[in-house]
Amino acid sequence: MSSSSSEITKWKDKYYNALDELELLETSTKDTGALFCRALIRLSLATKGFNQQLDPHLLRLRNQLKQGIANSKLSNELTKFSEALLRFEDGSAEEPLQDASLLFGFLISQEANTDKVSALNLLRGQYETGKIAGAKELLRLMAELCAPETLEVGHCTSDLNAFGANLDINFICEQLVQLIQGMDMPDTSLADAKKITQELKEPQTEDSFRDNVDAALALLQNIKKYEQFEKKEMEIFLAHVTQQLASLGANANGVSGSTEKIRAKRNNLDLTVATKMQALQVSSANATKLEPLKQLIKSELDNISAQMQTHKQEEKKQQAEADQLVAVMAAEIKLVKAEAQSLKENLKQASAQALTDALTHLPNRLAYDRRFEAEYARWRRNKEPLSLLVWDIDLFKKINDNYGHKTGDKTLIIISKLLSKYCRETDFVSRFGGEEFTMLLSNTSSEAALVLAEKIRRIIEKTGFNYAGQAINITISCGIAELKVNDTQETLFVRADKALYEAKKKGRNQCVIAS
Ligand code: GH3
Ligand code: MG
Ligand code: MG
Repeated sequence: MSSSSSEITKWKDKYYNALDELELLETSTKDTGALFCRALIRLSLATKGFNQQLDPHLLRLRNQLKQGIANSKLSNELTKFSEALLRFEDGSAEEPLQDASLLFGFLISQEANTDKVSALNLLRGQYETGKIAGAKELLRLMAELCAPETLEVGHCTSDLNAFGANLDINFICEQLVQLIQGMDMPDTSLADAKKITQELKEPQTEDSFRDNVDAALALLQNIKKYEQFEKKEMEIFLAHVTQQLASLGANANGVSGSTEKIRAKRNNLDLTVATKMQALQVSSANATKLEPLKQLIKSELDNISAQMQTHKQEEKKQQAEADQLVAVMAAEIKLVKAEAQSLKENLKQASAQALTDALTHLPNRLAYDRRFEAEYARWRRNKEPLSLLVWDIDLFKKINDNYGHKTGDKTLIIISKLLSKYCRETDFVSRFGGEEFTMLLSNTSSEAALVLAEKIRRIIEKTGFNYAGQAINITISCGIAELKVNDTQETLFVRADKALYEAKKKGRNQCVIAS
């Protein structure tokens, strides 16, 4: 082979090698472009909703990437997006990034590269501990992290088919489904969530994918907003519950227990309420979700209220029974009291009757016995003289015989009054029996007693008794004895009676002192 032919062959080989290298480079560039597009779409999806100014750019960018735009158009769109991002960084972005955890969660779940996952976690920690200066800075750092290192905008030559082939739509849909299913959401979002997850599980067209992803992200935003609202509502609700519990506690305190039985039941109720309150406190402290806590508290409060209602009704019933019992007892006590009073009166009357002579109303012999005991005791203490006078109407039998028993009775009554009338208040006059009377004269010697006895005897002698206009002569005799040291009631009486006998023997109508 000649040198020129060898030269040609050499250049030919070089040309073919260069073609191979170019082909390789084109494939690599296509892959890189597809990777870049996929990353951009994921990033635009993840950051959707964080800033209203960026959202339209994100939507356009995403749509154009999906439709396979020409390089110049994509370049133009990326320039606009970068400018908007710069404006956002320059301070026009006022909204704080409240959904950082959602965004981090989504990016981490989408990222296969473990180094990037670690970097995202590190960034997350820095943001949560306030080391990142706001949402703008966070988004910038996120964008840097998620961007492929080899990215060159001018090399993005991918068309719709290349994008469609490389974009892992199923993977994104799957991730979104998992994200939605892992969220605590309000009842009002459940139907939407079900519909969107069903749609996401279906095979996607470009249009349905776009619509479904938009719907899923809107749903996630709503759930986040609801969580913020729920947090506030939970605070209000817990404050309300605290108030309700306090009011219930006050009601419980207000329930009065008058009987031992009621008190025991009351203590039992207090214990039950306290236990339930404690359980509620623990549940409230540990609660992370409002609805189940609401249900639990409502059910417990209903339970406590029902128990208190039952308790109040029982207590009311028992109180009514107790009141009725008290009323019955009060009536019985009143009756017994009246009976006791009546009995007391009767006893007093009976006692008075027992000590009083029915005809003359003077104290009787029993009364005399009692009075003598008292006077005798006083005599023993004071040693003041005490004299006993025994009176006996003279020839009284003849009065009965001559004028009748009734006249005899009237005579007894008149004599009784005269004997009482001329005695001192401290003296004691009694009808001893028949037509005999006794007088106990305290602080009176036999001599002084004789003076009084004579006065009375003379008054009776001079009293004009008559029967049917006919004058009746009535006299009385008296025996007097003064209590001596060795005397008893009997010996004193015997001595006075003996003195009376002496007076009768001497001719009646006279008073004699015992020897
Ligand atoms: P002397 O002077 O010795 O005492 O004679 P006397 O008649 O009073 O004595 P005597 O003991 O014999 O009579 C007492 C009478 O008194 C007999 C009885 O019928 C009468 N007498 C006793 N109690 C009552 C009474 O309550 N009413 C009436 N009307 N008479 C009575
Ligand atoms: Mg007599
Ligand atoms: Mg007599």
